[in-house]
Amino acid sequence: ACGSSVRNYRPGQRVIAEQHFESCGVCEFCLQGNRHWCSQKRSPGYRSDGAFAEFIAVRQDLLHEIPAAMTFEQACLVEPMGVAAYAILEKTGINPEETVVILGCGPIALLAVQMVRAAGAARIFVTGLDSDTRKRFALARRFGAAAVLNAQQENIVQRVSDLTAGRGADVVVDLSGAPAAILQGLQLLKRGGRFTAIGMPHDPVTLPWTELIFKAIRLDFSFSANYRSWQRCLSLIERGAVDLSEFTHAVYPLEDWEKAFAVAKSGEELKVILRI
Ligand SMILES: [Zn+2]
Repeated sequence: ACGSSVRNYRPGQRVIAEQHFESCGVCEFCLQGNRHWCSQKRSPGYRSDGAFAEFIAVRQDLLHEIPAAMTFEQACLVEPMGVAAYAILEKTGINPEETVVILGCGPIALLAVQMVRAAGAARIFVTGLDSDTRKRFALARRFGAAAVLNAQQENIVQRVSDLTAGRGADVVVDLSGAPAAILQGLQLLKRGGRFTAIGMPHDPVTLPWTELIFKAIRLDFSFSANYRSWQRCLSLIERGAVDLSEFTHAVYPLEDWEKAFAVAKSGEELKVILRI
């Protein structure tokens, strides 16, 4: 159902909703299109009731229509994709023919590879661990990585230097959240390179400040996503620029939530979806 003041939406329409519930709409951040930075924001399931429910009331300004050709399962991926799209495409920005290294081989990293490829990067390298060799390295390659680098078996700094003829990367995106990987990632950048920080380390990271000054590195810190990032992701999915087939097949009914959570925790599936 729609409230009496709702415009542009009608009952029965398929939509997804940004999670910036209770963003105020009048603070500096909201007015500049950064509702995810609003101090009043409450996300469903985080300091307010969640969305594991048949019905949920959402403000119309948080909605995006799901294109007709898109499945609900594909639309579920817009939120996690949006986090990477906002950080990498909105904040850092990828220029045509750049070399990009993605640190980490998790679900968001495997989406990021595809987005960076769609944005015009010439070469994408993905780093991971021994545990990624079983399945995820192959997916990274399938999604557009020119090389996958095992941080537990290889000297990543040397490999990236070799792969770029000593030049280094234009952009490094951290999706590992591992302090050691972050520090190593900074060494992969060329002078004037950009570093996108998305992964969240549990421990403090001590940066080689002076070294970063002389390398003139730009650090872009980021969390969550804005309206435009969601629109970009909807467009990327709709035109088939990202392949979500590996992310949308683990679907469980809500009654099986315990199993779904166990599968999600195991890391066997890239994403787990609950159907209500
Ligand atoms: Zn606000």
